[in-house]
Amino acid sequence: MKYLIKMLPPFFVFSLVAISCSTVAITGRKQLNIIPNSEMLSVSFQQYDEFMLANKLSAEGNNSSMVKRIGFNVQNAVQRYFAENNMAEQLDGYNWEFNLIESADVNAWCMPGGKVVVYTGILPLTQDESGLAVVMGHEIAHAVAEHGNERMSQILLTQLGGMALSEALGSQPQQTRDLWLGVYGIGAQVGVLLPYNRTQESEADRLGLVFMAMAGYDPNVAIGFWERMAAHNQGQAPPEFLSTHPSDKTRIEDIKKNLPEAMIYYNR
Ligand SMILES: [Zn+2]
Repeated sequence: MKYLIKMLPPFFVFSLVAISCSTVAITGRKQLNIIPNSEMLSVSFQQYDEFMLANKLSAEGNNSSMVKRIGFNVQNAVQRYFAENNMAEQLDGYNWEFNLIESADVNAWCMPGGKVVVYTGILPLTQDESGLAVVMGHEIAHAVAEHGNERMSQILLTQLGGMALSEALGSQPQQTRDLWLGVYGIGAQVGVLLPYNRTQESEADRLGLVFMAMAGYDPNVAIGFWERMAAHNQGQAPPEFLSTHPSDKTRIEDIKKNLPEAMIYYNR
């Protein structure tokens, strides 16, 4: 009996692992996402609402409209691509929103389920609509590639182990919630994210270029944008969405390498 009890949890973990391996669109990278999407989205939407209540929308109409227009264009492009490639169900439950908030922080993020927030502080660096599409494409890529779920899954497996897995996922949603706070922060602090890992950051760069190109924005402007970011970051702590990126030089070189792929979609 003792033997059986010891044997069961790994088996259980294995079965969960086996059914939750997913593949990232376009890059084809395999990832392990064990948090049910419904749970990810319900926590995301709740935290997003709290953030929006605690923060102020920009009163500047043109820029707010620009954020919504880019978001809408990228959303449509992503949905079209996923539908054409029989992956539309991956976007089930999404409730897209694109808002510009008043803040001097050079920041932007996208929470699971398509909740995109841009801070007014980043606009001097994005300069124009295509420049901002670089940032929003990158952030939307993190969400669409389910990087948050992947990070939480990694933490869950490392910290809690197999025994606690079923509890965290089912009977104890509090554990999922606590994990969430570790990954995404809480309420008004939600923009202060723990870093994505470097694989995810590079993947978001690559997908972001493709998504902006699909939406009709020239991905070549990404190089100028990241050069401005590099100049801006000299001697300062990088913002959330840059924190674990490869060095600016490596990143710009990687972007140059990824441009031909994105240009296929831009010219389509
Ligand atoms: Zn990022």
